[in-house]
Amino acid sequence: MPVAIYPGTFDPVTCGHVDIVERAARIFTKVVAVVADNPSKNWAFSTEERLSMLRDSLAHIPNVEVQSHKGLVVECFDQCDATVIIRGLRAISDFDYEFQMAFTNRKLDARAETIFLMPSAKYTYLSSTIVRQLASFGGDIRTLVPAPIHDRILARFTGAGK
Ligand code: ADP
Repeated sequence: MPVAIYPGTFDPVTCGHVDIVERAARIFTKVVAVVADNPSKNWAFSTEERLSMLRDSLAHIPNVEVQSHKGLVVECFDQCDATVIIRGLRAISDFDYEFQMAFTNRKLDARAETIFLMPSAKYTYLSSTIVRQLASFGGDIRTLVPAPIHDRILARFTGAGK
């Protein structure tokens, strides 16, 4: 019963994140998407908002669960009885940070293997930061974020989109 966790900030979730979860869900019995609940960061969306947007964006995938976690990823890995941590790799620019995180997690828990998945090429430039910036300037984010949460994101940044 291989279980994978997919930790991230998801501020907000994008089509790139959903693409990665869809791929992981075809490989693993269960995928748990884990929203970082870290109070020291300055989120655009609260933990509850990020959780709710992630749930609505992943509702079409049956073997996916969504939860939040405060603290170390390896604690969540252990609590979920996971065998793998999933991360997405877009470009070489992601590699350095992801490499550090993978080795740090393995140092904390020798069983914590990280597997990297690559999204569809059309999402390789996409990040939550790009979505926040585009939305705040009124740019079209329709093809970048899941349809069920598009209006919520626009409303947050422009007061529009209802
Ligand atoms: P974090 O702050 O932990 O990097 P993110 O929510 O930004 O959290 O990203 C979670 C994971 O998803 C990371 O491994 C990141 O590289 C990956 N990711 C983010 N955007 C994309 C995308 N467009 N395509 C593929 N993977 C992505």
